[in-house]
Amino acid sequence: MDTSTEEHTSTTKTEPETLKLLINGQSVVSQTSEFGDILNPANQELLARVPFATSDEIDCAVEAARRAYRDWSETPVSQRARVFLRLQHLLRENHDALALCLTREQGKTLDDAKGDVFRGIEVVEQAANIASLLMGETVSNVGRGIDTFSLHQPLGVCVGITPFNFPAMVPLWMFPMAIAAGNTFVLKPSERTPMTAMLIADLAQRAGLPPGVLNVVHGGAEVVQNLCEDPNVKAVSFVGSSKVGRAVHERASKHGKRCQALIGAKNHAVLMPDAHKGRAISSLIGAAFGASGQRCMAISVAVLVGEAREWTDDIVEKARSLHIGAGEHPSVDMGPLISPQAKERVIGLIDAGVHDGARLLLDGRHVKVPGFEHGNWVGPTIFSEVKPEMSIYQEEIFGPVLILVGVKDLDEAIELINANPHGNGSAIFTHSGHTARHFQHNIDVGMIGINIPIPVPLPFFSFSGAKGSIQGDLHAYGKDAVRFYTQTKTVTTRWVTPERTNSTPTTIHMPQ
Ligand code: NAD
Repeated sequence: MDTSTEEHTSTTKTEPETLKLLINGQSVVSQTSEFGDILNPANQELLARVPFATSDEIDCAVEAARRAYRDWSETPVSQRARVFLRLQHLLRENHDALALCLTREQGKTLDDAKGDVFRGIEVVEQAANIASLLMGETVSNVGRGIDTFSLHQPLGVCVGITPFNFPAMVPLWMFPMAIAAGNTFVLKPSERTPMTAMLIADLAQRAGLPPGVLNVVHGGAEVVQNLCEDPNVKAVSFVGSSKVGRAVHERASKHGKRCQALIGAKNHAVLMPDAHKGRAISSLIGAAFGASGQRCMAISVAVLVGEAREWTDDIVEKARSLHIGAGEHPSVDMGPLISPQAKERVIGLIDAGVHDGARLLLDGRHVKVPGFEHGNWVGPTIFSEVKPEMSIYQEEIFGPVLILVGVKDLDEAIELINANPHGNGSAIFTHSGHTARHFQHNIDVGMIGINIPIPVPLPFFSFSGAKGSIQGDLHAYGKDAVRFYTQTKTVTTRWVTPERTNSTPTTIHMPQ
């Protein structure tokens, strides 16, 4: 395994900044006594401190959003949309700076960080098109002289709770669509990667959001609980781990909020023997080890069908050639894991796999990166001979660990995947249209790639994870986001000519 030999050069010796809250358009110094450290995962450099907002500060943020809602929800839709045109321009202008901040706090490579920002910008472009997305439906003459039409009206104050792994994209999945639809918003970014979100929030203010329309509070479990219970909050959008997401969904629902929680995954790729071998293996390696496996759409199980079982050595060799190091270095393929705790957890799961009898074909537990001795490194790791009951198969590892499973035919592969409780995504590599169709028709997951390893839909569709990968029924962005962030009203009207008004009969019975 190749590792970066660049010496670390510290960029700052000054006292790290303490992040502010954004409440009612103002940067607010939190009065809390609880703080978290934001550490560069490549070397543990202290980048900033994050304050955990007090309950008074959370109340202020929600109250600011509640007050701003009155005017913002009445602001003409084109005017709201134009803010997002300006925001997409500002995000593009600041693309490199955002990506650099993201790499430093999250660890992924600069190219990947640019992709993280870019996929968010695409949702902002969609938000700028909100007027056509908000259009309702009309049917005239549902009865004599009677027409029915539907309206999508905003809900009020919406909340977004985001994970560490996509510090730009996931906040941008949420607040642009919610706000463009006429809502106001309180964002609670991951306490591990909140710096990029703050830069984005600042750009959103510069783009012309009035005070209080977007607010940002920081913190962990307690802040989230407060937000989920606040009587003025109408909807909660959560992205993160399964355990936390289920609890957030339960709590928010219990307190009468609409809630969607996009949670954990265990994504499988099927490699058919008729696939283009080189392309299939390259795609698999990128999808398994890109961002060090810390993507909810990462491939963590490769199902090798029939003669494709003989591709194991090539897969291992390709993984072994990946270049590991600090994400800022241009030749690096894989950065560190987010934290020492994440590293310890992933190594613990690899140890468990070995203990349970799986065969370790490539071991990433002992990777060292010269100059970055304190980074959270785990190299590409590959297992074969894994049984479904082993913890490495059962759990979402969220690290650079790939499991290879051999099966005799496609139906056995489909059966294995459908038995898995998660259902975010799955890919198949094949040259056969029939095989691809059989797979897409019978596989029980929400997003399917055919010769595409990570089939994340563009924002005119929705991110349609299924089964155990989602709580709630409406997905992120696309038309589902419009439904999630609005209430549908259906209006039925009868306008009769004045001279007929007196001759209208009294209606007592249901129409037949
Ligand atoms: P996490 O669940 O630890 O944190 C997510 C958010 O929840 C953070 O803002 C955090 O502050 C908050 N939180 C943490 N503990 C909490 C608690 N006890 N109560 C209430 N809130 C709490 O997740 P993470 O480690 O930041 O992110 C990785 C996870 O996110 C993975 O499981 C990944 O699959 C998932 N994810 C899913 C999708 C998807 O679309 N399905 C997308 C991205 C990430």
